[in-house]
Amino acid sequence: MVANLGLYISVSLLTVPSVDEELQSSRFVEAFGLPAELGLEPRVANLPDAPQFEALAAKFIGQERAREAVQGFIQANKLEESPTWTDAEKLRLRDYIERLIGGSVGPAAARVVMDGYLASRGSRLEGVFDLVGEVSHSLEESREALKQRLNELSIINEAAQHSTSSLSISQILESILKLLQEKIGVDHCSIRLLDEDGVLRLESYLGPETLPLDELDLKPDMTTLVGQCLLDRKLISIPDTSQLAPQEVTGLHSAEMQASFILVPLATESQILGVLCAASKQKRFFPPEQLDFYRSLANQVSLAIHNARLYEKIIRFSRELETKVAERTLELKNKSLELAEANRALKELDRLKTEFLANVSHELRTPLNSILGYTQLLLDGVDGPLNEEQQKSLERVEKAGRRLLQLINDILDLSKLRAGRMTLNLEKASLHDILTEAIQTIEPLAAAKEIRLQIMEEEVPPLLVDRDKIIQVLLNLLSNAIKFTEAHGQVTVQVNQIQLPEAPGVLKEYVAVRVSDTGIGIKEEDLQNIFKEFVQVDTATTRRAGGTGLGLPISRHLVELHGGRIWAESEYGKGSTFTFILPLSGTEVQPAPAEAAPLPSRKVLALTRRGGLIHVLKETLIPLGFDFKAEPMVDQVLAEAGKGNLAAIIIDFLARDIPLLAAIRTLRTQEATRNVALVPVAFADDGRSGLVLGPAEFLKYPCTLEEFSLNLLRLEPWCSYKEALIIERHPEAAGGWSEVLQEIGFEATVVASGEEAIRHLENILPGLIIFNLELPTADFVRVVIFIRSQAETFLVPLLCLLPAALGEEAERKLAQDLREGLNIKKFPVANFIRQLKRIFSKIATEVT
Ligand code: ADP
Repeated sequence: MVANLGLYISVSLLTVPSVDEELQSSRFVEAFGLPAELGLEPRVANLPDAPQFEALAAKFIGQERAREAVQGFIQANKLEESPTWTDAEKLRLRDYIERLIGGSVGPAAARVVMDGYLASRGSRLEGVFDLVGEVSHSLEESREALKQRLNELSIINEAAQHSTSSLSISQILESILKLLQEKIGVDHCSIRLLDEDGVLRLESYLGPETLPLDELDLKPDMTTLVGQCLLDRKLISIPDTSQLAPQEVTGLHSAEMQASFILVPLATESQILGVLCAASKQKRFFPPEQLDFYRSLANQVSLAIHNARLYEKIIRFSRELETKVAERTLELKNKSLELAEANRALKELDRLKTEFLANVSHELRTPLNSILGYTQLLLDGVDGPLNEEQQKSLERVEKAGRRLLQLINDILDLSKLRAGRMTLNLEKASLHDILTEAIQTIEPLAAAKEIRLQIMEEEVPPLLVDRDKIIQVLLNLLSNAIKFTEAHGQVTVQVNQIQLPEAPGVLKEYVAVRVSDTGIGIKEEDLQNIFKEFVQVDTATTRRAGGTGLGLPISRHLVELHGGRIWAESEYGKGSTFTFILPLSGTEVQPAPAEAAPLPSRKVLALTRRGGLIHVLKETLIPLGFDFKAEPMVDQVLAEAGKGNLAAIIIDFLARDIPLLAAIRTLRTQEATRNVALVPVAFADDGRSGLVLGPAEFLKYPCTLEEFSLNLLRLEPWCSYKEALIIERHPEAAGGWSEVLQEIGFEATVVASGEEAIRHLENILPGLIIFNLELPTADFVRVVIFIRSQAETFLVPLLCLLPAALGEEAERKLAQDLREGLNIKKFPVANFIRQLKRIFSKIATEVT
């Protein structure tokens, strides 16, 4: 009884006790207090018969079981009909019935029940036991309700698990409907969802029939039960469809309308989602007390749908984002490819432009030189006197021609600089000397405008520089300063030694040259651009002054090639200052200067006995780091060479006492000297003029391909291009040389005379010149003088071909013709020294 009471109470707590249940409970408790309160004693006499005991038992264990139990008792005890029973038999039945009741309500309660029953027999209290039976029955029912409730709870729990284990809406809906079918036993169930267009669509259905999903779309409104359920968010239960009024439209498919059905709204707080429908073939399959369960289940489903939709949205967004990122990445990749292509095209264009300018300039220079030459002749009155008008016009032609020539030279310089083909002829030079030379050149210009030139020079150590190039920079800065300064202004040049930080805590020594003027100045925004090619600040002065806009970019390249820097400062209207600095230690200059890589032990031998020449050679070569020795005889040269470490042999071309060609032949055949560079020189007896004729090789032909290649190999370090110019009168021989040259990768051009050769050289700079000495000597002399007096062709190597059949006498005659023909008076000794330095700087650094 206590256990049942506990069960009753917990059932009541869980199921919310009804008023009836509460009443029953209190009457039951009261009833069992009554017999004691009334002082009733259990009586043995007047014991009831078997049918009465059976009726009592039936109240607790049911009619059927009670009857079976009593019949069993009678048979087991082999008894007659009960009126004939003895008291002892009746008492045994009493105990048996008590045990039976005890099986239902517990032994203690059964004892109370039996005693109370016997004591109250025949009194009004007998009806109490009907009540006891009812209470017990209601306890059974409550237990059933609890079971039902637990079942519902476990279904909801299972539904929650299904909802969280999947994020696919169709999977969730299907599993919920399956639960309803399997655990509740509904015959048909379906879920309709509202789509974005406001149409209610059948999303999932479970039932014995197949529904045409697509045909059941419904625009929900209050005319259908489904619409009402959705829009009002209310559960609609139809316990008996046969009772539905004829005008009632459900909105369901006929298969879904069984004997009873319910419609449950699916919604979150902010959104209506759809309708869940469950139908059964039984009427009243959905009792009112179960409706809460459907509401809870619908809440669970709504939450799951909401979550799954959110997830779908997130997935869609992230997919869209991924696609967008991929698209953008591809776009960027394409753009950068396009850019790279455009960049490449631009670079190619730039290269073509430079190449074009260089080619055109070469082409222009020759005719322009002729124009200038003829103009000069006319101006000199060679072709007769000129009247004043003609004189003026020709002067204008000459002036314009010179400007054009300057422009062409600038373009050629720049293209060489940009292609990295400009080499520096580094030498130790005094900045004072360089400055003096530049000032001397520019002085007439300053004087013409009455501009005062002021020099403020600090003594600085000698610099390792290409003298000509630094003079070019200075001339450009000075001529600009004079050009952009009004008459009576001032131009100042200042030279100082300075220190600049190179790395934290490390100072480097530089020489700074400042060229300042009191001229028109340059605006701040133009200062950034003036070092760019072809840039001129657009002012009346610039337009009047002319110019090319190439001077500063060339100067910048030249200074940087020396490891220096150049910059400009200016106050507009007041003047400008251009400064360039050059490093004092030449160690970082490219290419490595002669002095930075001296080879003191390397020897230069001169085959001469002329004192003037020996003196100049010694004075020039020893400071460059060479060991110098002059020997008057070939044998002595060979003996010295045998000691090794020979860098070059200088051959005095004008020496009368040496059989020139025979000596060369010997040097070229002896082991000690055959691979040593040969530098022929022509030096005047009075020591005032001279010309360096090397680098040169002499090849006796016919020869083997091997001998020819060997000669070329020695000349190769001097060849800037693999383009050869062959000067040869005999077309057959010329063809032969061309073929051989082509075989070793050279392109060859053939000309037949010295004159033609010079015309060619004015336009095209070859990498090698091949000359047959059989030509008239005058032709040879013209070509040699032409190439060795031009800065550009000065280092182009010369390969002289000597016919074997010439004979000793003819050779001597040739040497004499050469001696007499080489008119070198035009070339002062300073020029000779500069040329020597140029050629031996290269020998020191490259031709090893
Ligand atoms: P160019 O003098 O042949 O025009 P540059 O490259 O030497 O070419 O100079 C470029 C431009 O820089 C000049 O056209 C001029 O506008 C400006 N410029 C150069 N030097 C000076 C200066 N000393 N004063 C004012 N402007 C200058």
